Amino acid sequence: MFQSDRAQVGPECAASLGLVMSPLPSPSASETPLRVRFAPSPTGFFHVGGARTALYNWLLAKRLGGTFILRIEDTDAERNREEWVQGIHDALAWIGIGPGLGVDYEVYRQSEFEVDHVRAAHQLLGARRAYYCACTREQLDTRNEAAGRKQGGYDGHCREKGLAVAPAYVVRFKVPRPGVTVVNDVIRGEPAFDHANVDDFVLLRGNGTPMFLLANVVDDMSMGVTLVIRAEEHLTNTPKQQLLWQALDAPYLPTWAHVPVLVNEKRQKLSKRRDPVAMEMYRDEGYLPEAMKNYLMLLGWSPGNDAEIMEWSLVESLFSLDEVNSSPAFFDVKKLRAFNADYIRALPQAEFVERWHEWLAAHPQPWEYRADQFGDIAPFVQLRAEVLGDIPAVVDFLFGDVTPSDADWDKAMKPPADAILTSVIDSYDACSWDIDVLKAELEHIGDTHGLKLGKIQAPVRLAITGKLVGPPLFESLHVLGRERAVGRLKAARARL
Ligand code: GLU
Repeated sequence: MFQSDRAQVGPECAASLGLVMSPLPSPSASETPLRVRFAPSPTGFFHVGGARTALYNWLLAKRLGGTFILRIEDTDAERNREEWVQGIHDALAWIGIGPGLGVDYEVYRQSEFEVDHVRAAHQLLGARRAYYCACTREQLDTRNEAAGRKQGGYDGHCREKGLAVAPAYVVRFKVPRPGVTVVNDVIRGEPAFDHANVDDFVLLRGNGTPMFLLANVVDDMSMGVTLVIRAEEHLTNTPKQQLLWQALDAPYLPTWAHVPVLVNEKRQKLSKRRDPVAMEMYRDEGYLPEAMKNYLMLLGWSPGNDAEIMEWSLVESLFSLDEVNSSPAFFDVKKLRAFNADYIRALPQAEFVERWHEWLAAHPQPWEYRADQFGDIAPFVQLRAEVLGDIPAVVDFLFGDVTPSDADWDKAMKPPADAILTSVIDSYDACSWDIDVLKAELEHIGDTHGLKLGKIQAPVRLAITGKLVGPPLFESLHVLGRERAVGRLKAARARL
């Protein structure tokens, strides 16, 4: 199914990527297009860093007419879950990656190719590029301790023993010694790895199952991957994997691109236990996918002119790995929120309402929604909401009962709140129900109490909306209507 001999970054592709050709070019290189892959493991929520890697892959495939391969690396049966597999498809679809979107899209499950992985290990055994190793973890630990090798590792104990297969023996790759492996990384140049620091790593576990390093290479080779864009944390795997490509007689080597690690405000690598990294969470909170995509793209990449908020078509035409830098990128949730607020404000109002309705349909609220009433207040909500999930707390006063917190109540309902509410009830019972009139009436009542509008609004706002902050008061009153507004003012006064 896969033809690795036709899969090589051609010279035109290479030039536009800023790639140095790999040292083992395929003869048919010039005719063959780019093949990239995104290879997530379905072991948890979909990480924002994974989304960025997927976008980088996708954009290059799109621009260069290449193929985007989604390979679900599902070989860790204990940690995989089907719901995470679905989560990967859903999160990718949310950011515009999937079949039928103008890019050749292939999907595979790594577990389907286990036979190939094991066969590759046996090929290496046959070529004496790998060997059986009988050392147990305990034996290794004991030897490492005795030799003062604090970082652990493997000392090559079984390398020259020529052991035959036996239950529980692992298969290790024989790293050529001495030696140096230079990898061709579009983002990092040509880092060199001295084999003195590369242990003979395990290819097959004692139970015969393949390890990640092997499975990942065998699949990349058979799927004809020409450019591997992935997280920086895999950089130390790369010399080992490149050695495997060579030992398995690949007709070419892929080019690599290790994208910078994402860090939090303390410059710590984002951790799924500590930091908000799940794409699903951002979708649930009501981030717009276009804001999310735009923000993710800028984590490590800049089009070089300080532009930040950009039309996606511009991102598509400008993105290049050449401008991705290698230093850690700060994943700044505050900035992402501000981005999202900008995106929300920029939507045509009808579309804003549509997006809000979509979000609402997926996140039912404990009140009965009325689109006509929302329409009246939509412009104000749109100006203020940073994420769609902010909206329920701002508009719930329209659709459900108001229940102010005790702390807000004590703050807003200090004397002369009683007298203020009485005057407001009298006035609002009779005045015309017009935004300007409602405001002028309250200003006037403020004058008689020696209070500025800002101050006098507090008890009224709390009675009407149940909160001290929210959409503009007079518009809210207007939308709510006289009967409900005055009823709420009376209920608050009765509680005082
Ligand atoms: N399954 C690996 C991961 O999720 C992918 C490694 C790679 O992209 O090569 O980290």
